[in-house]
Amino acid sequence: MRQRCCFFWVCVSSVFCIIPPALALTNQDYDQGKVSAYQVLKQYFKTKGFRSGNITIPELQLDIHLEDHQLFKKEEEIEDIYDRLTEIRKEFGLDAPETQKVRSTGFCGVLKAECSGKDAQVYFILIKQNLNPESRIYTLGHEYGHFLWYLGQQELIYSRFNEPEMIRSTINSNKEFAILCSWTALKIVGVSLSNSVIKFSPDRETRERSSQIKELVNLYYRK
Ligand SMILES: [Zn+2]
Repeated sequence: MRQRCCFFWVCVSSVFCIIPPALALTNQDYDQGKVSAYQVLKQYFKTKGFRSGNITIPELQLDIHLEDHQLFKKEEEIEDIYDRLTEIRKEFGLDAPETQKVRSTGFCGVLKAECSGKDAQVYFILIKQNLNPESRIYTLGHEYGHFLWYLGQQELIYSRFNEPEMIRSTINSNKEFAILCSWTALKIVGVSLSNSVIKFSPDRETRERSSQIKELVNLYYRK
């Protein structure tokens, strides 16, 4: 299969605040109600298609629950990841991303929004169009891996392995965890990992590390 490991971008330094409009009463007797600034912030993201609550991740056979201040959106069939990312960043008043970091089949980003002293984390996943079925599953597994890492929910995956402690101590970074989830997603749908390779990955070291992680998934994934 042809697969390119994605790079990821995390926008932890891009903190912005949305100021709600002044809520004026039309007259003394008619209270139109107050909305907190934080409520306006959450509502803003919800109108853009982000949501909280239960999120199903079929590719990893997982359901997770997002708190009120955590919002998520996935977009598939993206023509050009870089262009879409630039669009999203523009919406939030951010500069265009560095080109070389987003030439891939998928992307997972985080925006951190702050208002009235409260934080909201806004996660989004972008998946390129016209991927073959295996590449699509691999890419979704990978991006959801980043998402789970940001949420601190790695145990949901580690606990499915024989020797979870060994797997946990082997995976050293967000990037490696995403690779673990890529291969796990393929294993779940029954793709032969022995016959799968990554092409166009960024460097030799990543390709080799990916092969090692693939072997671990092949040998130790049990669910
Ligand atoms: Zn990645």
